[in-house]
Amino acid sequence: MALAGVRAAVNTGAQERAPELGTRAPIEPHPVFPLVRDPAVALAIDIERQLAAHSRLDRAAQQAQQSRQLGYLLTHAMRRSAYWRDTLEKLLENNKGRSAFPLSEMPILTRETLQRDAAAMRIDLHAAGNKVRVMRTSGSTGTPVEVLRYAPVEAPLYRAITRLDLRWHPADESRPVAVIKDVAQRAIDRMSARTEGREGLPAVHVMNMVEHSPEALLRWLLEIRPDDLITTPTMAAELARLASAAGERLEIGHVRTFAEPVGDELRRAVREAFGAKVVDRYSCEEFGWLALQCPKHDHLHVMTSNVIIEVVHDDGRPCKVGEAGRVLVTGLHGYAMPLLRYDIGDVAEVGAPCDCGVTLPVLRRVHGRERSFILMPDGSKRLARLTGEYWREIAPVDEYRVVQYADGSIEAFVRCERGLSSEELLALREMLARVLSFPATVRVTQVNQLAWPSRWKRVDLLRLEHTRQRAIDLGLVPDPAAPSGV
Ligand SMILES: [Zn+2]
Repeated sequence: MALAGVRAAVNTGAQERAPELGTRAPIEPHPVFPLVRDPAVALAIDIERQLAAHSRLDRAAQQAQQSRQLGYLLTHAMRRSAYWRDTLEKLLENNKGRSAFPLSEMPILTRETLQRDAAAMRIDLHAAGNKVRVMRTSGSTGTPVEVLRYAPVEAPLYRAITRLDLRWHPADESRPVAVIKDVAQRAIDRMSARTEGREGLPAVHVMNMVEHSPEALLRWLLEIRPDDLITTPTMAAELARLASAAGERLEIGHVRTFAEPVGDELRRAVREAFGAKVVDRYSCEEFGWLALQCPKHDHLHVMTSNVIIEVVHDDGRPCKVGEAGRVLVTGLHGYAMPLLRYDIGDVAEVGAPCDCGVTLPVLRRVHGRERSFILMPDGSKRLARLTGEYWREIAPVDEYRVVQYADGSIEAFVRCERGLSSEELLALREMLARVLSFPATVRVTQVNQLAWPSRWKRVDLLRLEHTRQRAIDLGLVPDPAAPSGV
């Protein structure tokens, strides 16, 4: 026993790299027993247990928990948010004799309303000393929106749902995690430092997906050999294509995706290239996690502990199993800025109840925004960093769409409430060339209307196999010479 203890001490001592006696270097000893957890980790574990229990209750019990939380949020919203006080009081007046009404009777919150009335929706928690996180989202159309989130609840809940995802799709924790996303260097340093050496958690390596070519990212993956890769479907598909083409052997356990829809083709390509299972996660900046992939099937289970999701037809009727419609989200913890029945611009298909043991509602698939690679003049591909903020810094652009033609030239169509001056158009062009790191021709054209080719497939940047003139003739892009052009 004693000897074992000494051996263990020697072993752990060697790993701990104890500083020289007498130095003042800070040390952070971690007891092996009892385990003294980092408070943030302990909190996430506690919440995750509650979420796991909730996920297996019958639907009526889940709805009862949601209703209690929604009632609490509505009371808070009525007391503290001018917009919601007005909206809810009006509803109660119109429903004389009733003190409550179903969520489905509330008006749908559109992106336009959110942009217009954001200030009146906000609750001044800053003044009360509470931490609020400001999320700026460009959304599906590039129209920027600022949403406040209440950090003391949002952050631990986000971590807890991440743990639930790991419980449903367990990773090999002895191997590293690779994250490829568009993220600032400061956040990269923070993410890498946060998990390293903590409670046996795997090391996390992060790379920016806009600043590096897919080829460079694949080389990096071959070096670190992760078990888990977290990235977008577009990037995962390109990495799988490159790895297969080069005949590179890289075994990955899971490719966890976010931000874009996942198709069967991606699942197949990723399985063939890396032997990996795609684990889709549906989230957005306004609410955090919306749904996680089922432990057994490819469809998604709604995170009813965080949000209420309604899928409705254009006339507001709820969709039945097998039907697709607009996704309305009610955040259950929007204490800093309540968002009720918010149309986030995605289309989803309602799924049948699942046989995996998780009783949470099912979304069979989600059709959201997709990203595209720009083809650079040297033939390489790069993802574009495009958000509404870049545009709004220069001019009041409401909506944009970027197209790359067969000859490689790029054109951005912008919709704006007023006519843009030639100086503004020039500044937008310079911004676009800089943000896309694109040296060839870039055009910016103002139009009155921007129609998407299909609401089922929306992209920031559309690559066309046609010349500009052919695309105009085919009606794929607006004709700037037509009366409705500028
Ligand atoms: Zn399931």
